[in-house]
Formats: sequence, structure tokens, C-alpha cells
Amino acid sequence: MNLLENIRIVLVEPMHGGNIGSVCRAMNNNGITDLAIVAPRPETDWDDARKLSCQAHAQLEARKEYASLAEAVAGCTLVAGTSARTGFYRDTALTPREFAPIALESASTHKVALVFGREDKGLYNEELALCSHILQIPSSELYTSLNLSHAAYVCGYELFCAADVFHPSEEKADEASSALRERMFDMWREMMVQTEFVHDQKLDHMMMGLRRIFNRGKLTIPDCKILMGLAKQSVWVANQWRKAQSND
Ligand code: SAH
Repeated sequence: MNLLENIRIVLVEPMHGGNIGSVCRAMNNNGITDLAIVAPRPETDWDDARKLSCQAHAQLEARKEYASLAEAVAGCTLVAGTSARTGFYRDTALTPREFAPIALESASTHKVALVFGREDKGLYNEELALCSHILQIPSSELYTSLNLSHAAYVCGYELFCAADVFHPSEEKADEASSALRERMFDMWREMMVQTEFVHDQKLDHMMMGLRRIFNRGKLTIPDCKILMGLAKQSVWVANQWRKAQSND
């Protein structure tokens, strides 16, 4: 089951259409689709909302609207209010990272709400009282209040990471065997001789340095082939150059 389907983002009386659109985009980036708006303002600039939602347009259109916060979260078990301020019972606030595993555990069976306040006044105390958890996003004391959509993004991101649905692509090429690496090192040794990069007495020392450099990371088969091709071509060019010198 996709746990993120059970996460509901609730915006209480948002002031700016642009922020609503940006929240939709942030939700989509994090695989969250359920948007509820409490007491939408009649003057909301929905064109702006559509513009800033970008490809999360459908999401914006699918929003549900409620007259009160109590109605928007009535079907949810956990209700997390977000606040930049301390005080009231915000003192027991969790970070979104701490809250994410708690939220996902509940989301396996029930809806979980993340509630965001007005851009100017945040959430009122009676709204925070409806919340089972309070979340505070860590920020510098120079400016603790994030933009509404940034706050929604950070909370969504922590849930998305905790849901463990994203797996970065891994190196597909196979690692080079010791035999292949040794063939490559032989060719580089030959290249250093033929290009007169080092003279005999320094060659072993230089080879040790080279081994140290190449052994710092994982060498794949294609990596070795590139390094071998470079060595082969350098030897060929050095020989051509020598031939041209002896014909002069
Ligand atoms: N001036 C308001 C800030 C509102 S910002 C106030 O003092 O509360 C709009 C909303 O973004 C907030 O209501 C909250 O839901 C969220 N938000 C902004 N910064 C946050 C932070 N540091 N931690 C948690 N939520 C935050």
C-alpha cells in the first residue's frame, strides 16, 4: 500500500493563490495527493494558483473545501499542526523528521493530516488545540517563519523520504576484476615509458602512486577500457613521433 495516499495536506484560510499552487507542486514532488482547504477566501487568485501549480494542476482542481478545520480533519487519526512559533503547547513540538515515522505508521490504516496556517497569522490556538501533534521546522533564529509552500515541501519531503519509495539509480557496469586492472596497469606502465614521462629508476615509484590513485574508488570494466584505450593511443602517438624524429 502507498502510505502517502493517506496523507492529507490542510491549508487554513490561505491568503495567496500562488502559495496554494506552490503547495500543490510541493505535494506532487513528494507523492502526496490529498489537498483540503479550510475557509477558502473569496478573493483567492485561482489563476495564480494554477500558474504556480505547474504540472500539479489536476491536484489543485481535486482539492476539497471545508468550512472549518474540525470538518477537514474529522476523518483523520493523527492531526499535526505546524507552527514557526514557540509558546502555547508548541513547546512539545516535534521536527517533521521525528514525526514522519509516526505519521507513516498511522497512515497504514488511517488518514493523517498535516495542517498549515495563514501566511500572516499562522494557526490560532483553538486550531492548534485540535491537533494531536505540533511540528516545528528547524530554522535559524534570524527568521523562523518559512513561506507556506516551503513549509509544506519540507514536511512532505520528510514523509516521502521515510516512506522509502525513492531508490537512486545504481551503477550498472560491473566492477573490474583484478586481472583486468593489472592489464590496465601494465599498459599505463608502458605508456609512461614510451612517452618518456618517467625514467627507469622512478617507474616503480610512479606505478605505486598510480595504483594508489586508481584504488581510491571503484573501477568498473568500462572505466578500465577507457584507461586502456588512452594508454594504447598514447603509446601509438609516442611511436609515431619517434619515427618522425628519426626520419628528419
Ligand atoms: N506569521 C506566521 C507564520 C505563518 S507562515 C506565524 O507566526 O505563525 C505560514 C504557515 O507555514 C505557518 O502557519 C505554518 O503552518 C507554516 N510554517 C512556517 N514556518 C514554519 C516553521 N518554522 N515550522 C513549522 N511550520 C512553519
